[in-house]
Amino acid sequence: MAAEEATGTDRGLVRRSDRHQVVVIGSGFGGLFGTKSLAHADADVTMIAKTTHHLFQPLLYQVATGILSEGEIAPPTREVLAGQKNAQVLLGEVTTIDLDKRLVTSHVLGRELVTPYDSLIVAAGAGQSYFGNDHFAEFAPGMKSIDDALELRGRIFGAFEMAELGAARGENVDHLLTFVVVGAGPTGVEMAGQIAELAHRTLKKDFRSINSRTARVILVDAAPQVLPPFGQKLGRWTKKKLEDLGVEVLLGAMVTDVDERGLVLKYKDGSEQRVDSVTKVWAAGVQANPLGKQLAEQTGAPQDRAGRISVNPDLTLPGHPEVFVVGDMISLDNLPGVAQVAIQGAKYAAKEIEGRLAGKAPQPPFKYFDKGSMAIVSRFKAVAMVGKLRVTGVLAWLMWLVVHLFYLTGFKNRVTAVLRWFVSFIGRGRSERTSTEQQIFARAALKRLDRGATSLVSEPGVYDAERRRAELEAQAAEEAHLSDDNLRGVKVGG
Ligand SMILES: Cc1cc2nc3c(=O)[nH]c(=O)nc-3n(C[C@H](O)[C@H](O)[C@H](O)COP(=O)(O)OP(=O)(O)OC[C@H]3O[C@@H](n4cnc5c(N)ncnc54)[C@H](O)[C@@H]3O)c2cc1C
Repeated sequence: MAAEEATGTDRGLVRRSDRHQVVVIGSGFGGLFGTKSLAHADADVTMIAKTTHHLFQPLLYQVATGILSEGEIAPPTREVLAGQKNAQVLLGEVTTIDLDKRLVTSHVLGRELVTPYDSLIVAAGAGQSYFGNDHFAEFAPGMKSIDDALELRGRIFGAFEMAELGAARGENVDHLLTFVVVGAGPTGVEMAGQIAELAHRTLKKDFRSINSRTARVILVDAAPQVLPPFGQKLGRWTKKKLEDLGVEVLLGAMVTDVDERGLVLKYKDGSEQRVDSVTKVWAAGVQANPLGKQLAEQTGAPQDRAGRISVNPDLTLPGHPEVFVVGDMISLDNLPGVAQVAIQGAKYAAKEIEGRLAGKAPQPPFKYFDKGSMAIVSRFKAVAMVGKLRVTGVLAWLMWLVVHLFYLTGFKNRVTAVLRWFVSFIGRGRSERTSTEQQIFARAALKRLDRGATSLVSEPGVYDAERRRAELEAQAAEEAHLSDDNLRGVKVGG
C-alpha cells in the first residue's frame, strides 16, 4: 500500500503534506547527513531518532574521562536542523518497519506514533556486543551512548574516591585502583591511554591516602595484537607507547566471566587468570541494530554474524528500491563500521532520492572513498593510516586534531573543544569531572522497573487533571496546616 493510502486512520498517523515523504531513522552520522543532504529535495523529511541529539561517537571516551562535556559531542538535532525548512525531528524509538505498508512505528514513554513514508533511509547504527554474554553489561558498560560515557565517568572517578576512603581506613584498595579495558581496537586503546593519563598526570596531586600513579590500567584483547585494522607495524608502535604510559597490554586473552569485583581471562594455552577490578570498560564487539533483523525477515536479505544486513550495490533492500540502509547496519564489500561509510552512504541515498524526484537516471553503485583511519594513544601521540601512508606520533596527533575539529558539529562546539583540549593536553586539568550517583546507578534502577522509564509516567490519555489538582490542593492545605499550627518539626524546649 502506498503511503498516501495509509493516512487518516485512528492510529496517530502523520503525513505532513502531499509532497514525497522521506523518513530517516536515526540521528547519528547516517541519519543526520542523510537528512541534511535532502535540504533541497522536493520532499518532506522526517527524522525519527530515540535521542534528541546527534552523537559524535569518536569522542565519547573524552566525555568518559572528563575532557569534554556531553553537550560538546552531542548537539541537539533540532537545533542543527532548525534552518532546514523541509526537515522535521521526532523523538521515538522505532520498533517496527512495515515494508509492505510503508509505515514506521515508533514509541516514546508509552506513546505510539505511526509514520508513513514514500522513501526510507534506515541509519539506526549498531550497539555493543557481549558475544552472547549480555549479563556482562551490568559490570562492564560499553561505549556507545552519552549514558554509557557518563556512567563510566562516574565509575572511573568514583573508583579513585572509594580507594581514597578505603586506604584512609587501612584497607587493601588494589581492586579499586585496577582498571580493565576490554577490546584493543581504537576505542579501547584511546580509553586505556586516557585512564592512564588520568591516573599518572591529572589526579597525581589530588589524593592524600592513595597514590593515583600506582593505579593499574590493563588493556585486554583475544587478538594477538592491538589495533588489528591498522596493521602489525602500527599495532606494535601503539602497544609500545601504551606500555610506556604504564598500560599493561594482555593479548590472546579472552574474557570468560565478568562480575562486580573483577573478570576472568582465558589464554590460548587454556590457563585462566582472575583480575580483581571494580571498573571495567567493554570496548569489544558490535552488533547491528535489531531493526536489521526485521528488514531481513521481510526481504530475505541475509545478515552476517554481527547482524549486519546485506544490501544491493545501491544501498537499497532487495525488492524495495524505496528503502535505503546505510552505515553500521550494512554488510557490503567488507566496508568497515566507521563514520565515513555512514556519511557517504547517507549522502548517496539522499542524492538518489532527490534524483528520482527530479526524473534523473540512477547513479552508479555506491563506492566508498576511504579517507583513512586514526587513533589517539595519549596526548601528542596517535597513529594514522591514509592510503599507503602510515604516520605515528605528533604529526598523526595533529592530523587527528584537525579531522575531529572538522567533523565536530557546530562552530560553538569546535571552539569549546579546542579550549578544553588546550586545558587537558597542555596543562593537566580536566574540566568535566562532575558525576552524580544518578549517572552511575539510575540506568540499572530503571532496568529493574517493569516497563523502564515508561513505568514512571502516566499512560497517554488516562491523566486525570481534576483528580490530580484535588490531590495537590489537599496536600498544600495539609502542609499549611502543619506550619500554622506549629505541628511541623521538632519542638525545642517546653
Ligand atoms: C566509541 C566509538 C568510537 C568510534 N570512533 C570512530 C572513529 O574514530 N572514526 C570513525 O570513523 N568511526 C568511529 N566510530 C564508528 C562510528 O561512530 C560509526 O561507524 C558511525 O556512528 C555509524 O553511523 P550510523 O549512522 O550508522 O550509526 P550511529 O551514528 O550509531 O547512529 C545511529 C542512530 O540511530 C538511533 N537509533 C538506534 N536505534 C533506533 C531506533 N530503534 N529507533 C530510532 N532511532 C534509533 C540512535 O539513537 C542514533 O541516533 C566509533 C564508534 C564508537 C562507538
